Amino acid sequence: SFGELAFQILPSKTSDRLLQPLWDYLLFHHLPLISSPLFPVLLAFSSYFFFSIPFAILDLLGEKVPSLYQYKIQPQRQPTLRMMAKSFFTALFNHFFFVLPAVIIGTLILPAPTMPQEAPTPYEVLIDGLATLLLFDTQYYIWHFIHHKHPQLYRYVHAIHHEYAAPFSWSTEHLSIPELMTVGLWSNQDPIFLKCHPMTTWCTTVFSIWMSVEDHVGYDLPWTLNHLVPFGLLGGAPAHDMHHQKPSSNFAPFFSHWDIIFGTAVPLKKKLR
Ligand SMILES: [Zn+2]
Ligand SMILES: [Zn+2]
Repeated sequence: SFGELAFQILPSKTSDRLLQPLWDYLLFHHLPLISSPLFPVLLAFSSYFFFSIPFAILDLLGEKVPSLYQYKIQPQRQPTLRMMAKSFFTALFNHFFFVLPAVIIGTLILPAPTMPQEAPTPYEVLIDGLATLLLFDTQYYIWHFIHHKHPQLYRYVHAIHHEYAAPFSWSTEHLSIPELMTVGLWSNQDPIFLKCHPMTTWCTTVFSIWMSVEDHVGYDLPWTLNHLVPFGLLGGAPAHDMHHQKPSSNFAPFFSHWDIIFGTAVPLKKKLR
């Protein structure tokens, strides 16, 4: 029949995968943007910006929003506008003068990334994304532990992040240049090492930044991921806030298994109000 003939003549679709229409749209309309080596940096910094803004507003309102302020972990320590501006501009400065040049140098050395025609399956996004997060979590756990045990490394590389004992959203990327470059390198290389689809990589980038911001919001909100994911698999704000109060505890950024295995897990002290 004509229908069968048309089916044979028409070029076969790349796939019937759920994410294929979205992937095709990105390839056809935004290829220069998504294949630019600057895209991951842009994506990372803009997600950081948009995820942090609501919490920065919450920090400025403070006690004026009692329904949320009741969840503040260290109510006696409220960040000032000056502290927020300092952290934000530190991150902006470091991205502009260090991350961007490193990426530009990288494009001159490394081969240009190729965009596959086929979209990933949602299952691939989930499994490869989880593998990337687990690998990063392990790398950062080891790095973080070493940088707290070695006095010189702590002083010159990690101490900047501990300037504030009570974290707030903009303090997430209050990092020294070597620390930012290290986490940036892992974020870039881990998905390549694990052969992730670009779409998986971007989803993982955005998701990991959301988790890093959640770690630092300074509020133990009942709907954050550490409360939604069962069995305390994720540390979230309670664990990381405790790390800023008691820096020899809770070294993992996302998951809690390494801290439990190595005996560095310390639960958040119940606040006395
Ligand atoms: Zn921190
Ligand atoms: Zn630390």
